[in-house]
Amino acid sequence: MSRRAKMISKIKELMYKPDYIRNIGIVAHIDHGKTTLSDNLLAGAGMISAELAGDQLFLDFDEQEQARGITIDAANVSMVHPYNGKEYLINLIDTPGHVDFGGDVTRAMRAVDGAVVVVCAVEGVMPQTETVLRQALKEHVKPVLFINKVDRLINELKLKPEELQERFIKIISQVNKLIKSMAPKEFKEKWQVRVEDGSVAFGSAYYNWAINVPIMQETGITFKDIYQYCKEDRQKELAQKVPLHKVLLGMVVEHLPSPSESQTYRVPVIWQGDLESGEGQAMLKTDPNGPLAVMITDVRIDKHAGEVATGRIFGGTIKKGDEIFLVGSHTTSRVQQVGVYMGPERINTDVVPAGNIVAITGAKNVVAGETICDTERKIEAFESLEHISEPVVTVA
Ligand code: GDP
Repeated sequence: MSRRAKMISKIKELMYKPDYIRNIGIVAHIDHGKTTLSDNLLAGAGMISAELAGDQLFLDFDEQEQARGITIDAANVSMVHPYNGKEYLINLIDTPGHVDFGGDVTRAMRAVDGAVVVVCAVEGVMPQTETVLRQALKEHVKPVLFINKVDRLINELKLKPEELQERFIKIISQVNKLIKSMAPKEFKEKWQVRVEDGSVAFGSAYYNWAINVPIMQETGITFKDIYQYCKEDRQKELAQKVPLHKVLLGMVVEHLPSPSESQTYRVPVIWQGDLESGEGQAMLKTDPNGPLAVMITDVRIDKHAGEVATGRIFGGTIKKGDEIFLVGSHTTSRVQQVGVYMGPERINTDVVPAGNIVAITGAKNVVAGETICDTERKIEAFESLEHISEPVVTVA
């Protein structure tokens, strides 16, 4: 079997194991390194060639955004990542980095269960960090923290190791303060990010390395060593010893929830229907055999496939050829094909079960925010997506 065929069969296998899925977004203030991080994660997970990462911005394929140099459309990529002897399917939803597109960030947040919050070590927590974090927390999306551009603190700002530590502490405490003030009550403490447990990582997306406490313990590499590697211009070596994708995706698997875990507390918040009903139970249990419940988070036009709607399946299974009901517009439509993402590509799979991000082609009149269900089992619509674009809490 070719590598590609193997990858497809792996993804098809993992999509039926919600405990081994992580649906995540990367959120950041503009220029803090979200694009560089996404590209290097994909390259590291073997989904694009390493030489291309950084040069070719796979997530930035919209021409309009290329012209402006900012990310407008939310795009999807998926990766298979081995961790502690098991393989995981990681679906990464790109989120726009510009505050004007807050609506898109909110939509992307509906599809995911966890978020990697990227903060540039040089600039620290910025207004958009706060906005995107707020959007995530409002959707009951759990955060982990990646402090990026650490190389610059050492090589450009020439900070001493103690000063480095002070910066880190400041960023972490600001992020935790935001989590405390903006997270749902039951998660204010539980979702605090902590250096000790590995829910905070440090590194350089550009130079492709990262470190957190569990990896330090595993490899014996200390902050002092990191300092030396950067100072001595040996970051390539560091990238081989502690590769960005391994550390970051390990942190994602370990600390961010699977759909089966998160749907138990997210469904009651994003869906106001009867939780005791068949569809309510199917969503709470991420059951692929229950009634269909999909929330569409993005629609875009593909040159070849026409309209492609991307959404999160909370319950049931969507199939090629299905007749579906669009709850918001009270119309029916037919699904031409369904698929999932492999790297930045879409692959048709004929069926996609609960817990996954699905790409639906050929369904007419579908818009972002729409709820999709079976024609014979109509369900209540998901909560509408609220646009948040202004920081509400001020960072001290
Ligand atoms: P985005 O707006 O958050 O997507 O940020 P980008 O990924 O486009 O990065 C913004 C700029 O910062 C680019 O010039 C990157 O090359 C640079 N950059 C990103 N990460 C790092 C890093 O870890 N170290 C350094 N020195 N530069 C970085």
